[in-house]
Amino acid sequence: MFQNLQDKLDKALHNISGRGKITEINVAETVKEIRRALVDADVSYKVAKDLTKKIQEKALGQNVLTSVTPGQLMVKIVHDELADLMGGDNVGVNLSGNPSIVLIAGLQGSGKTTFSGKLANYLKTKKQKKVLLVACDVYRPAAIDQLKVLGDQIGVEVYTEFENKNPVEISSHAIEYAKQNKFNVVIIDTAGRLAIDENMMNEIRNIHQKVIPNETLFVVDSMTGQDAVNTAKAFNDVLNYDGVVLTKLDGDTRGGAALTIRTVVEKPIKFISTGEKMEALDVFYPSRMADRILG
Ligand code: GDP
Repeated sequence: MFQNLQDKLDKALHNISGRGKITEINVAETVKEIRRALVDADVSYKVAKDLTKKIQEKALGQNVLTSVTPGQLMVKIVHDELADLMGGDNVGVNLSGNPSIVLIAGLQGSGKTTFSGKLANYLKTKKQKKVLLVACDVYRPAAIDQLKVLGDQIGVEVYTEFENKNPVEISSHAIEYAKQNKFNVVIIDTAGRLAIDENMMNEIRNIHQKVIPNETLFVVDSMTGQDAVNTAKAFNDVLNYDGVVLTKLDGDTRGGAALTIRTVVEKPIKFISTGEKMEALDVFYPSRMADRILG
């Protein structure tokens, strides 16, 4: 994960830690290298510039120049700023409803269906909730089957209406069903498109308005780089969602989305998905992610 970014940051910080005494010029050079590493990892230039400006100010303010271990101090400053960029404490999923409704949105192929299964599994095993999965991808029967297979695998019921092509109706019926059968959580897996399109946005907006979710999560493929950030913004404009799920962090992603999304949409990353298996889901902690990025 983030190998390239890790290597470059490591190199930049190694240069400074190798010195006993450092100058303002050394700090400036290191900061420039950090900025370059971030931009190469698909972090937008503006975000990278603002971040490195803060790092530089902190470094000079905290007397890195007179420190006996300037390298270590610099690593700590970079770590804290990266963690800050990715957000504060993880607030979890809002489970205050009865049942709690969780709406899953995102483009086709982003990993929505897989994540819906993982979240159901997580809530069932870690939070002891009775969970109902709802298949609302009415355009792709294969997606409904896929959710059923996942449901069977994790022992979670999947609500389907194969003949019904209206996702707003299916969601409402599923919620009624969940109330009657005392489910604690209803996870609604919606249809995506390959790119942002008005029909999809209208459809998800209609479902959102009808079911009034306790939690709306936007799922995005971290491998799509800067596009991930643009998609996150487009969905947020329509749904004002509560949190982001970054998928495919096990792949060769450059990491830009993880670092930038919080700043651009002002919504926290709540989960990261690191594989196709149902257990490959992590609650997102900015500080731990900063640890990973710094190796
Ligand atoms: P949807 O169209 O948004 O519902 O996306 P799917 O859940 O069907 O996922 C699309 C593809 O990505 C599938 O082949 C999944 O197995 C795969 N996938 C989903 N999440 C991850 C992940 O975190 N890592 C990897 N490597 N593959 C994933």
